[in-house]
Amino acid sequence: MYRACAFCNAHLEGDGGPSGLGVGRRLAYDEWRGRLWVICRACGRWNLTPLDDRLERIEAVARAAREGRVLAATAQVALIRGGPYDFVRVGRPLRVELAGWRYGERLKARARERARVVVPLTVAAVGVGIWANVALGGSFGFVLWNAGRAADAVYVGLLGRRPVTLTEPAVCSACGRVIRLRARHLGRGRLITDAHADLALVVRCPGCAAEGALLTGADAAQALRRGLTYLNARRRARRRAEVAARDVDRLGGADRLIQMVARGEPMLRTLHPDRLVALEMAVDELAEMRELERQWQDAEELAAIADGALSPTPEVDEQLRRLRTQGKAAQPDG
Ligand SMILES: [Zn+2]
Ligand SMILES: [Zn+2]
Repeated sequence: MYRACAFCNAHLEGDGGPSGLGVGRRLAYDEWRGRLWVICRACGRWNLTPLDDRLERIEAVARAAREGRVLAATAQVALIRGGPYDFVRVGRPLRVELAGWRYGERLKARARERARVVVPLTVAAVGVGIWANVALGGSFGFVLWNAGRAADAVYVGLLGRRPVTLTEPAVCSACGRVIRLRARHLGRGRLITDAHADLALVVRCPGCAAEGALLTGADAAQALRRGLTYLNARRRARRRAEVAARDVDRLGGADRLIQMVARGEPMLRTLHPDRLVALEMAVDELAEMRELERQWQDAEELAAIADGALSPTPEVDEQLRRLRTQGKAAQPDG
């Protein structure tokens, strides 16, 4: 097995764990088609593993994955964590039970991010506060409480000012100006149903206040993620994660929850705090799984050709040639 990514040349992390490949920390496999890939952490591309002993390796990976925790899943793709390894199971419809812990890691990451802003600011403010208090003879407890709240407000303000980057700039249909969205503008956005997209969001133009543009697909996902992160931080709704996770499960997964919320075409800031947290989780999950599905499709196309099922197009041929040369070059040590 090669040690560097065939696409970006970055060193492939990890020791391959149960695969016995000796390389890789995130492994994707398809038991039905007999595919096994090492996913590059640097560029996210999927590196197909050599055909020899692939089936035994897949079996070993599948066995380890069965003992792991399912972090997220769609009908086609499941992301599973087993110890230090991530397994991406692809290629057949699954029925998996998803529980509240699925969101645990995302929430922990967010709490860490908040602490990076809030704690240093509080410490700095308390330092000044103690000095001022001693000078004025005031109450220390009051200063501490106030400093914490002020730091929190700074953090929420930072989240609100985060810009929303769209694949193409949106132009307001009412005033004709380019809409420059920031997270805090999304409170007045409305989630709607659209026959052609799994996510559709009507946004209000910050310039003229009209509902000036419709975002769909990846743009809607990016805007929603920014907006919901801000709204949820502001409402101090993080503690409701458990309830929200159960909400997502009860409704049959991220897709379903989004569809159900969109049916009412609500303005985001009018949603119940629990629903808002559930929606944020669902949008996050959908985005991650769509990305995995997309990568899988690319990887599967290459794999089908590499394993001799189809004939290659010129671009694919070039990628394959690189894969093969790299495989050969790395063989002595692999
Ligand atoms: Zn790479
Ligand atoms: Zn406008």
